[in-house]
Amino acid sequence: TRRIVLASRPQGAPTPENFRLEEAPLPQPAEGQLLLKVLYLSLDPYMRGRMSAARSYTNPTELGDVMPAGTVAEVIASRHPDHAVGDIVLSYAGWQTHALSDGTGLRKLDPTFAPLSTALGVLGMPGFTAYAGLLTIGRPRAGETLVVAAASGPVGSAVGQIAKLKGARAIGIAGGPEKCAFVRDELGFDVALDHKAPDFPEQLAKACPEGVDIYFENVSGKVWDAVFPLFNEFARIPVCGLIASYNATGPFEGPDRLPHLMRDILSKSLTLRGFIQREFVAEQFPDFLRDMSTWIRDGRVRYREDIVDGLENAPEAFIGLLQGKNFGKLVVRLGQP
Ligand code: NDP
Repeated sequence: TRRIVLASRPQGAPTPENFRLEEAPLPQPAEGQLLLKVLYLSLDPYMRGRMSAARSYTNPTELGDVMPAGTVAEVIASRHPDHAVGDIVLSYAGWQTHALSDGTGLRKLDPTFAPLSTALGVLGMPGFTAYAGLLTIGRPRAGETLVVAAASGPVGSAVGQIAKLKGARAIGIAGGPEKCAFVRDELGFDVALDHKAPDFPEQLAKACPEGVDIYFENVSGKVWDAVFPLFNEFARIPVCGLIASYNATGPFEGPDRLPHLMRDILSKSLTLRGFIQREFVAEQFPDFLRDMSTWIRDGRVRYREDIVDGLENAPEAFIGLLQGKNFGKLVVRLGQP
């Protein structure tokens, strides 16, 4: 079996040296355990936080430990009463080809329900993040204007499409003309804007003549600065991610934004509410699976995956994710069932 462990903690952007590929003999399940063969592993922005020593909403990965990841895996040996050889499960095996499990936290997947990789994207954690964060905190209504960045990725693409299903106007922000064309022409956002354009703040203001009612915050940084002046009274701001800052080693450039922010929270009655998707899982995941799978089947929600082959290519793909090199939900394929 092969695995990728955290070799050292990054200073700023991660580099290949922060990861180490290791080989080990295939483990055998003890009584009550099962052996998983990983088919797909998910690469997600939160993993950057786990590489740092600071505790965030969860503990960091220790040096020498396998990098964490959600995975789709096949049971290839079982001494567990609930799992048979051949079962396909959503699991948290991490960046490795095989893993032992005692069954905790596994969810059986039906391979005929949807392509297996979607359990890590549009029908998994990122899609659920969009669904729960948007509907619970953003609460889009017909005629309102929603803005979301990282709009071609799994969270942002679902946010904009669900907002449109609820009758809102969706403005997507993405890096580069190819991603923008996809967001507008394939996903059906009303407008797509490139945050790398020099006049991006002016373009955004022009695209939101009636202001912004919902800003689903995925990014922070310059995107936040451009959206901030456009908030309407009673705007809702689900704070989901701050990817522009994940590799930062110090505060953002520019003036202290806090006094201005506090003033507008007060004078415009803004709602800013951070969330980690797992707080909504118990209550909303079944509804999400039902709604999202229906929307996909009806062609009302579309998605794109960026599939990379081979465990050894995971570090480079992950480094690229933080720089916008992925185009769609980033997944590493390790095998076929
Ligand atoms: P994506 O697959 O969309 O990948 C991240 C994208 O972020 C990149 O492709 C890039 O897109 C964009 N990006 C990176 N740096 C910048 C920057 N400096 N300025 C603007 N855009 C940038 O990621 P996900 O859909 O998986 O995640 C989106 C956000 O949601 C992240 O912040 C993530 O941490 C957060 N998240 C939060 C969860 C929660 O429970 N709170 C759960 C899951 C995700 P582009 O090229 O278009 O700029």
